[in-house]
Amino acid sequence: MSADALYFPFSEPPAPGELLEVAPGVHWLRMPLPFALDHINLWLLEDGEGWTLVDSGIGTDQVKSLWKALLDGPLAGRPLRRILVTHFHPDHVGLAGWLSRLTGADVWMSEGEYALAQWLHGTSGEARSERQRAFFSRHGLDAEAAAKQVSGGNVYRARVPEFPDHYLKLSDGDALTINGHRWRVVVGRGHSPEHACFYCEELDLLIAGDQVLPSISPNISVTFLNADADPLSDYLDSLQAFYTLPNSVRVLPAHGRVFHGLHLRLAALKAHHDERLQRLLAACKEPKSGVEAMKVLFDRRFGTHELFFAIGESVAHLHHLREKGLVTRQEDAEGVTRFLSNVS
Ligand SMILES: [Zn+2]
Repeated sequence: MSADALYFPFSEPPAPGELLEVAPGVHWLRMPLPFALDHINLWLLEDGEGWTLVDSGIGTDQVKSLWKALLDGPLAGRPLRRILVTHFHPDHVGLAGWLSRLTGADVWMSEGEYALAQWLHGTSGEARSERQRAFFSRHGLDAEAAAKQVSGGNVYRARVPEFPDHYLKLSDGDALTINGHRWRVVVGRGHSPEHACFYCEELDLLIAGDQVLPSISPNISVTFLNADADPLSDYLDSLQAFYTLPNSVRVLPAHGRVFHGLHLRLAALKAHHDERLQRLLAACKEPKSGVEAMKVLFDRRFGTHELFFAIGESVAHLHHLREKGLVTRQEDAEGVTRFLSNVS
């Protein structure tokens, strides 16, 4: 089942830094990203005399100047009151602290996302780099490539230049009133610890962040921070909550285009992971490291930035199989971890 089965109500996304109204008082704003995935969608909601913003863009000079032009232009005269952040990734939280300082807007996040963002922003140093390097080596990356993964210092801080010095807490099921409409917080897991999505029954809208994307599968990664985790179980379990939302809902995702067909997309995401798990389990008749699993799951080569996610995603699938009792973990003399199928 591909994205072709979904319905996209807008033929073109807005140009960078420009607003496109997608529902009454709800505006689509696209900001550039310096990666293969080259954009993020933000949402500006008219909110009485002010604005509520969902996500903020990554902390580059280019995005900052687009924001300055917006604040001095289309947004002028209407203060930015609230910044709702879906999750800790730098394209989402990146400029929340900077915008908050410029405008006085409050930053709203879930506790799990704020805590992780704060930790990533605040920590650095040799011990952390060593732990990160060891994680990649254990999963089969050679020494040179593992060193490259940690050579940038605290990359997170470079992309989140000012960390919000306060936050107001969002929890699953909370209701926010924006422009007289009730928006409910729906928490997703697996892509990040406590990812906030926002659902408005009256407007039939879901701001989905990265939890449900129309044409790519959100990255589900094990990282050095929680190296034994099974985030794919968290992700697949948390998708269930989204089936309780009506299939008629218009989905506003953080990447790609606005779409209809939520239930179809949820089923496709589940099927995508099921197919990969089956393929990987079959390959694990010969023990597979994370890097070897990556070659089973992806048929292309990755640059340094993408490699980080591709290995994390491969390890997440291996850990999910292990959690289900389908593979057993073993370690070789060099300390590389591999996973062997228990299924004959
Ligand atoms: Zn994300």
